[in-house]
Formats: sequence, C-alpha cells, structure tokens
Amino acid sequence: MEKVIIVRYGELYLKGKNRGFFERALENNITRVLQGIDCTFVKQAGRYFVRDFAEEQTDEIIDKLKKVFGLHSMSVALQTTSDMPSILQAAKAVCPSCGTFKVETHRGDKKYPLTSVEVSRELGGLLLAEYKGALKVDVHNPSFTVQVDIREHGVALVFAEFIEGANGMPVGTAGRGMLLLSGGIDSPVAGHMMAKRGMNVDCLHFHSYPYTNMQAKEKVVELAHILAQYTGGTRLYTVSVTHIQEAIHEKCKPELMITLLRRFMFRIAERHAKRCGAQCLITGESLGQVASQTIEGMTSSNSVVEDLPVLRPLVGFDKNEIIERSVKMGAYETSILPFEDCCTVFLPDFPAIRPKLCDIEREENKLDIEGLIEQAFQSIEKIKI
Ligand code: ATP
Ligand code: MG
Repeated sequence: MEKVIIVRYGELYLKGKNRGFFERALENNITRVLQGIDCTFVKQAGRYFVRDFAEEQTDEIIDKLKKVFGLHSMSVALQTTSDMPSILQAAKAVCPSCGTFKVETHRGDKKYPLTSVEVSRELGGLLLAEYKGALKVDVHNPSFTVQVDIREHGVALVFAEFIEGANGMPVGTAGRGMLLLSGGIDSPVAGHMMAKRGMNVDCLHFHSYPYTNMQAKEKVVELAHILAQYTGGTRLYTVSVTHIQEAIHEKCKPELMITLLRRFMFRIAERHAKRCGAQCLITGESLGQVASQTIEGMTSSNSVVEDLPVLRPLVGFDKNEIIERSVKMGAYETSILPFEDCCTVFLPDFPAIRPKLCDIEREENKLDIEGLIEQAFQSIEKIKI
C-alpha cells in the first residue's frame, strides 16, 4: 500500500480552448508550493497526484495545497491492488472502527469483474463482519463514507475524506493588480479575493515614518507574506507620504485631510501600477464603513485616476463578513495588532463625509501636487516576498 494525495481541480473553466493555459498555470502554482518538500507531483487521468512523500509531511502538504486557487478538493488515499482483500485492508486503515458508514465506489476500469454497486456491497459486508457490533451501515446520513476508486491496471484508491480546496481560478490567469495594502483587516482580504479569481497581486503601502514606527511596517510585511502564500509570491512597495500629510496639514482645511491624502494615494498608486505592469488598482473599501468610504469619497478618489479600473471587491460586504474571511485566510491575528498606518496621523476630529469636488480642488490648488508626488516616488522601496 502506498499513501498518495489525490488533487482535484474545478472542471468548468478548464474546458474549451483555454484549458491548457489554465492547467499549466495551476501545475506551476502547485509545483511552487511543493518546492522544498521531497515528493513527486504527477498528472493522471484528469487529476493530480502527490506521491513519494514522507508520512509526517502529509499535513504540511495538505496545508500548502489548501492555499492554491483552482483546486477543488484533496484526499489522502491509500493506493493498493484492486483485489478485495487488499481493498479491505486499505479501508480498515483509512476508516474508523465504529460509527455509521457507507461505501461509495467509482469504477474507472470498466473491465473490473464487479460493478461499483457490487464492490460497495461486498466491502460493506466485510467491514461489518470485521468490526461486529461497532459499525453500522447508514446510507442516508453516515458518520463517514469509505470511497473506493477502481483504476485501470489493477490499481485501487481508498480514502475517507474530501478536503475542501480553495476553489477559484489559478493565480496567473487573470492579469495583475496593484493592491493598496494598509495594515488593517480589509485590504489583505481584498487582495485575497482578487487572487482567488486568478489575479497576480502586487502590494503598495503608504507609511508616515517617523510618525508611524517600524513595527507598523513589519506588520505590513507580515500581511504581505500571508497574502503571498496564496499568490505564489508578491512584491511589496512602500512609499512615504509623510511630507504630503505635513503639506496638507499646513495648508488645507483639516476636515479634508483624509480626502486629499487619499487622492494623492490613488495618483501615486496608478502611476506606480503602470510602471509595474499592473492593470488595475485594488482597495479594501466597503461602502459606508468609515467617513471616507461614502460614494462621494470613492468618486473623489476615482476622479484622479486616469484610466486604470479601481476594483473594490469588498464594497458590498459587512465588517463581520470581512472579518470571517480574514480569519479564514489567516491574516486576522496580524491585522488586529495595534500599530497604526499613516491614515491615523493628523486625523481630523470631523472628517468631511460628502466632500464636494469643487472644495477639494480649491484646497488642492494650494499644493504642489506634482512635486509632492515626485518626492514620494523618491522614497519608494521594494521588498520581494
Ligand atoms: P483596511 O482595513 O484595509 O486598513 P480601513 O477600514 O482601515 O481599511 P481606510 O483606512 O479608509 O479603511 O482605507 C481604505 C482602503 O484604502 C484600504 O482598504 C486600503 O486599500 C487603502 N489604504 C488605506 N491606508 C493605506 C495605506 N497606508 N497604504 C496603502 N493603502 C491604504
Ligand atoms: Mg486602515
């Protein structure tokens, strides 16, 4: 008997002319996450298999595969010969010895002497005899299901569990986006959602060093690392906006601080995205969540972006839905660390909730917009993750 991991991918989008493109991206992404683990990864009959790995690395491999978008499910299976005594032995190894169960058989080898129903019935009978009294058949609501897959060339796979994959599309099949990554809860989730649809995600973080400290930066680096587990790596760019906040603070109406700063962020982000080959901006904004996330606030930010689309995957989400996703992707514990990103510095007591474009532009005219942006670009740092 050999322990193997069966890896299944979503079928729908793999049909048609693009199939090869999606499959290659998926295979690359799987190979990448398995780097450093001694194992083989092969494709067979529309599924993938991980083989030849050390028993104690099973959980580690599964954890890594769970983060690959495009995978539908995984199963840790025993591969054995397809004679009934061997199948029984494998079934005993994968299933509990008490509780209710049923057997489901899939017969890929149509020449196998028994039909799938016959295999299920016979194996069920043998298991009942083996664990007399402790096991019971329940075909409607069993506590576990023994899965038998009869393959060609006298091979059978036996397993008891479908482990849910990340679903979505393989990263690398839907272009590249520039995520505005703060240290908060929302933006990592927004990046995760776009990666789930197959997008490569690079990150841009604005800081106000020395008003914000090094721990705030480390937190963002950590968040980028968490996101990178799903994207197969990312590039994190950090830019200082301290001088911009100081200029706004000095010359403009305090209630417009956030609005004006956000417009600088979007201008810088678009220019930077274009230089990096990113095709859109991604933010973690959610309608009405805070004063700057009204439709007027979003309009004001969008109006300084020349031609890239601004994707806001969380726009219709409640905070608790976002938190749920943050927990699931493993970012929450880091996101709630108390270090502040730049937006909390110089925060006005009463920010404008529905800023008017004419007021904004009047305030902005007091600033050397191009000079401030140029200075910001001089502070840019790149961290490869
Ligand atoms: P988050 O939880 O993502 O920090 P938030 O609820 O704190 O969001 P805002 O501060 O209004 O909301 O930020 C809205 C979005 O603007 C963020 O989701 C992020 O995409 C972007 N953003 C905010 N601050 C920064 C920053 N310092 N660097 C990069 N992007 C930022
Ligand atoms: Mg924030």
